[in-house]
Amino acid sequence: MNPPCKAECTITCFFTCIGKTKTKKKDCEADKPYHNINRNFSLSVKEINRTRELNLRSLIKRKKLHLLLDLDNTLIHAIRVNRLSSTDRDYLRYIQREIVDGGVVNPAYIYPMLDYSYALKMRPGVKEFLMELSPLFDISIYTLAGRSYAKVVAEILDPYKCTFRDIITNENCTTPGYKGLDVVLYPERVTVIVDDLREVWKKHPDNLIQIRPYEFFDYLSLGLGVEELVKHESTDMDTELLRVLIHLKKLHAQFYKEKTLGHSHRDIRKFIIR
Ligand SMILES: [Mg+2]
Repeated sequence: MNPPCKAECTITCFFTCIGKTKTKKKDCEADKPYHNINRNFSLSVKEINRTRELNLRSLIKRKKLHLLLDLDNTLIHAIRVNRLSSTDRDYLRYIQREIVDGGVVNPAYIYPMLDYSYALKMRPGVKEFLMELSPLFDISIYTLAGRSYAKVVAEILDPYKCTFRDIITNENCTTPGYKGLDVVLYPERVTVIVDDLREVWKKHPDNLIQIRPYEFFDYLSLGLGVEELVKHESTDMDTELLRVLIHLKKLHAQFYKEKTLGHSHRDIRKFIIR
């Protein structure tokens, strides 16, 4: 088993940092007010631009790009447990016991969470997706769900806290119901978004790779139980993450292809296939 590690805390993990009460100032430059994001925090426009420039330089130096990932129906499908049959709820309790007792990775990739009020299913290939993209992208979560929910999902997807730089949630959005790059501390021209909903990204369609929504538990409407769904893998042959993974790797290669031209004016939006 890999030893636990923690993603470096810099200004790039602003939203995660402001949620911590014991963050040391020297460890987290983001401990500054940030206008537009939160009533209690504001950064000047000059400071925002300076931070984006610093993050851009850091990305180029590390030969990486910036990736924003949605959670629900993109990386996972979650359902309220009270929508499941009693047989399915028993099955989830069995899985929970296995996880607690054995401390092992759940082979079904189904997890009860938030005090057993939700059941979460990881999208096929999500672990590999994150593992393969981590060396190429600074990865953050951007969801319209609440912070407490997003943090629990992030811990399931990234138990050693090695992958996600930041978690942006609905509490951080400046327009209710919409996502915007105005609260993101990376330049737009190096940022790629993966989300199942195009309509929430009205201002940034050129940065978006839309993914087909993942709806594992909807198969329950066919009369199958959760356990049966897990056993019959044929019902879960979703390969969307693999498709997007290939696309993202290609984008990264295209952006960094010709070193002689420099990267100062290159724009990832030109390479995204829609
Ligand atoms: Mg979604």
